[in-house]
Amino acid sequence: MSVPQEYFEAGRIASEVRNNIRKTVRPGMSILEICNTVENAVRSRGGKPAFPCNVSRNSVAAHYTADIADQSVLHDGDVVKIDMGVHISGYLVDTAVTVCFNSAYDDLTQATETALTEGIKLVKEGARAGEIGRVIESVAERWGFRPISNLCGHSIEPYRVHAGLSIPNAWMPGTRDLKAGSVYAIEPFLTSRESFGEVDEGKARNIYSLLARKSSGDKAADLFAEKIWNEYRTLPFAPRYWSNEYSKAELQIILNKLLAKKIVRVYPELVEPAGKIVAQFEHSIALTEEGPFVLT
Ligand code: MN
Ligand code: MN
Repeated sequence: MSVPQEYFEAGRIASEVRNNIRKTVRPGMSILEICNTVENAVRSRGGKPAFPCNVSRNSVAAHYTADIADQSVLHDGDVVKIDMGVHISGYLVDTAVTVCFNSAYDDLTQATETALTEGIKLVKEGARAGEIGRVIESVAERWGFRPISNLCGHSIEPYRVHAGLSIPNAWMPGTRDLKAGSVYAIEPFLTSRESFGEVDEGKARNIYSLLARKSSGDKAADLFAEKIWNEYRTLPFAPRYWSNEYSKAELQIILNKLLAKKIVRVYPELVEPAGKIVAQFEHSIALTEEGPFVLT
């Protein structure tokens, strides 16, 4: 089975946008500005955001995106993860970079990027996902850090960011094998050796996705769910996407109704509970019949 061409185009767009934001992001920029810059750059290149741009600072490992009228600003001394996705007709890629504005965490940042590079070297037909985790863990240990073991890389399928196969960030028995014709994301998250090495859910809840298409019994909520389906299918979205049509309070009421009926799910921010700094890098890789190709 060959890898559809759309993945390669989505990858070119994602890589260009990620490289640009990596060079231009600065303390003083607001999180909302970073999200808008990335998402607009994706659209202007002919792609669509596969999920809201995640801008997760310091001990927030993942899943923070700007809220409606978000006032938070990137500070000098922050370690920021920018995680973004691009799709073309549902064929999506997922990539992330850490930008470090605190020299005390340059090592952590470099170690995490090295772990990604070393992990990617293992991608081939029949490779065991757990072996990639083993390599990521050993790079982390060599640099004096620890991987976050409850965050994983994953296979990618059309309109599904996290498809069936997980690629762990530490050795794990019983994982599945990589197969040609598939697309995978590898995404090491590293943190301090003093950390327990797991993240918990935090308070911010700004990312949702549609789980089911059924009536909630509420007209406004059903109409909103239909809009999500038409625009985003099952891909994650942010309430701020709808801020021209609904107030923040209206959106929260609708989303709570849809959550209660399990029509949407929420992705809360994920936080290192001891407040340790977390770094992340991510690439999407097509495993073609000719071998691996880094899409992003
Ligand atoms: Mn990602
Ligand atoms: Mn991912």
